[in-house]
Amino acid sequence: MPDRINVTRSSMPPFEEYMQEIRPLWDSRWLTNMGEKHDQLQQQLQQVLGVAQVSLFANGHSALEMTLQALGLPHGGQVITTPFTFASTVHAIVRSGLEPVFCDIRPGDCTLDPACIEPLVGPATCAILPVHVYGNLCDTEAIAAIAERHGLKVVYDAAHAFGVTKGGVGAGSFGDASMFSFHATKVFHTVEGGAVASSDPALHQTLYSLRDFGIADAEHVEAVGGNAKMSEFHAAMGLCNLRRLPQYIASRREVCQRYLQRLAGAPGVRVLLQSAPDVQPNYAYMPVYFDPAVIPEGREGVQRRLAAQGIGARKYFYPLASDYGCYRAQYDSSRTPVARRAAAGVLTLPLYEGLALADVDRICDIILQK
Ligand SMILES: *Cc1c(COP(=O)(O)O)cnc(C)c1O
Repeated sequence: MPDRINVTRSSMPPFEEYMQEIRPLWDSRWLTNMGEKHDQLQQQLQQVLGVAQVSLFANGHSALEMTLQALGLPHGGQVITTPFTFASTVHAIVRSGLEPVFCDIRPGDCTLDPACIEPLVGPATCAILPVHVYGNLCDTEAIAAIAERHGLKVVYDAAHAFGVTKGGVGAGSFGDASMFSFHATKVFHTVEGGAVASSDPALHQTLYSLRDFGIADAEHVEAVGGNAKMSEFHAAMGLCNLRRLPQYIASRREVCQRYLQRLAGAPGVRVLLQSAPDVQPNYAYMPVYFDPAVIPEGREGVQRRLAAQGIGARKYFYPLASDYGCYRAQYDSSRTPVARRAAAGVLTLPLYEGLALADVDRICDIILQK
């Protein structure tokens, strides 16, 4: 039996390259708290993302929570977001003393449906938190127009969108701020890590202090912060991975294109990825919708048959956040029918740098029962 294929696999630089990157830390003994590697990575990311400010964090979730705190949103305020996301997005809102209001998504790319946002805006609404799901960019223009009309903040969960550009503009350029995750499973990673991109130096300054206990200087603590600093070892991993990013993306691109080729035209099978001439994607995920009206075994059947051959495919995202045990008493997911359908029919297929095209063929053969 061939080796197991998981849905994802972390990209790794050569061992020696990482060793070389961390060697200076044995001399300096400066292991965390905004050291040399941290500053280098921050500067390089500003270039790569094409944004004025990048604040590095220990993980993407803390970055998102602290951004909501830094924006000074009113306690109990409502934040319009999507139920079709990772737990982090919604938990960040709730843990910040805010209330999520779930908005439906578009069936083609699973991003927030701008037409559904405005009817949800009320007197308590203070922000919109859209997600660039699977690296699919939200309709940032429509969202900006709605936010402007109602005086709302916009924070993007760009955890999936590292390196995506539209008309040459980076995914971190929209709204008041964008959160990126550098978790080990992401296209670009620092093992654990994250960042906030923005064009606002004041926000950057606030985040600098919040992630370090709210400490302003040796004798002044001006905010109720936490600890979410990126260590030198994590930043060093980031420097190595950033060097190899073009290679990682090129490999993922080949894999994605093979999937698209093989699955094109299969009845009841729809790839949930945008393709637009002015968008440069990052090939982060291969989300596929299996239409239960056309495929009797449904998504569950496909997942079972893949699993029987040692291939992991993931129900990403299922369940909807509004159906989590901790939220379902407060929400009714039938109000977001498109999101509900997506969650019931989606599987993300194995996709990572270095996945062999022969394996992609094997996966597609199983899916298509060839
Ligand atoms: C990975 C992810 C996060 C959280 O990032 P961490 O770095 O793991 O804390 C948030 N939102 C989405 C959509 C993600 O995929």
